[in-house]
Amino acid sequence: MPTELIGLPVPHSQPPPPRLAVDKLTRVFDGLAVVDDVSFTVSAGEVACLLGPSGCGKSTTLRIVAGVDMQDGGRISVDGRLVCDTVFRVPPERRAIGLMFQDFALFPHLSVADNVAFGLKGGAAANRARVAELLDRVRMSDHVDSYPHALSGGEQQRVALARALAPSPRILLMDEPFSGLDERLRDGIRDETLALLKDEGTAVLLVTHEPHEAMRMADQILLMRRGRIVQRGAPYNLYNAPVDREAAAFFSDVNVLTGTVQGALTDTPFGEFLTPGVPDGTPVDIVIRPQHLRIDFHRGGRGPAPTPEHGTAAHGVVQRARFLGRESLVEFRMDHDGSVLRATVPAVFMPDPGTPMWLMLRRDRAFVFPRR
Ligand code: ADP
Ligand code: MG
Repeated sequence: MPTELIGLPVPHSQPPPPRLAVDKLTRVFDGLAVVDDVSFTVSAGEVACLLGPSGCGKSTTLRIVAGVDMQDGGRISVDGRLVCDTVFRVPPERRAIGLMFQDFALFPHLSVADNVAFGLKGGAAANRARVAELLDRVRMSDHVDSYPHALSGGEQQRVALARALAPSPRILLMDEPFSGLDERLRDGIRDETLALLKDEGTAVLLVTHEPHEAMRMADQILLMRRGRIVQRGAPYNLYNAPVDREAAAFFSDVNVLTGTVQGALTDTPFGEFLTPGVPDGTPVDIVIRPQHLRIDFHRGGRGPAPTPEHGTAAHGVVQRARFLGRESLVEFRMDHDGSVLRATVPAVFMPDPGTPMWLMLRRDRAFVFPRR
C-alpha cells in the first residue's frame, strides 16, 4: 500500500527546503517600492546572481537578507525556518550568513591570520586549522603574519573571501565584490572564488551590475529592473531567450530592426518573420546580437544568395569596419530597406567600405518583440 495513504512520513518524497527562500519581498522608500514583490530561492552549493543596472534594488534586497535593513512586506526563510517577516526578526549575527562587500574592508590592525579567525567560535587548535586550510585554499599561506596594508588589492580580496567563509556560513552574500579590483585581475579572481565557493557548498547570493560577471559566476541569474525580477534562469537562457528588448540589450550591444505586422508576418532584410497572435499594424522590434550575424566570407557578395541550413541570408554593403582586438566589428547597410546592421567577426577581417556581402542569420537567434 502506498505509504502516503496511511499518513506515514515518506522519507524521500519531499525535497529539502531551499537554503535561502525570499518570498514576495517589498521595500518602500519615500513612497516608492525600490524592491517590489521579489521572490527567489537559492540552494546549497548554488550561486545565484542579482543582476541589474545601478539603483534597481539589488543591494537593498541583499541588506534585508543580511538583516541590516527591514522589509515592508514579504518573508525570508533559511533551510525552511523563518528568519524574518514584518513582525518576527532573527538578528543579523544569528543568521549564519557571511558577508563580502567591496567596501567591507579587512581589519587594519589585525594580521591576515587574525582577520580570517575573527568570526570563528571554536577552540584555538580547530580555529588555527580552519584558518590554515582557507589561507592555503586562497593561496595566501605565505602571508599569515602580514598586515592588510602590505597586501595588493587582489590579495586583500582573497583574504576577505577566506574571512567570510571561515565560519562556514549557510549563505554567503556578496555585493559587487570584485569591482574594486584591477580589470586584468578580475576574471582570474572570479574563477578562483567560484571554485572555492563550490567546494564549500555554501549558497551564494551575488550582486552585480556587470552581465559578464553574472554569466561567469552564476548558476542562476535573477535579472532585476526597477525593483522587480523581470527574468530568471541559467545564463545561457537569459542570453539566448531574453524576455524583452531591454533584457536582450543588457547583455550585449544589439541590432534592432523595426517592422510592422501584416498577416502575422513582419518583413525584414532576412525575409518575413512569424509574429503569431500579434495584431496587424503592431510595430515590432527584431533584436539581433552582432555576434549572431555571420558573414559569408567565401562566396563574396556578388554571387547568388547563400542558403544556410538553419537560417536566411540578406545582402548588404560594408559601411565600415573596426578592429577591436579579439574580433572586428563590421557595419553594413542592408539593400532591403537601408537599415544598418553590425556584425562581429572573431578574427581580423577588415573589408573595405563599399564591399558587397551576404550576411546570414539563424532564425532562432533573432528575438521578435511587439513594441509596447
Ligand atoms: P542597487 O544596489 O541595485 O544599485 P540599491 O538597492 O542600493 O540599488 O537602491 C535602490 C534604490 O533605493 C535607489 O534608488 C536608492 O537611491 C534607493 N535607496 C536605497 N537605500 C535607501 C535609503 N536608505 N533611503 C532612501 N532611498 C534608498
Ligand atoms: Mg548596490
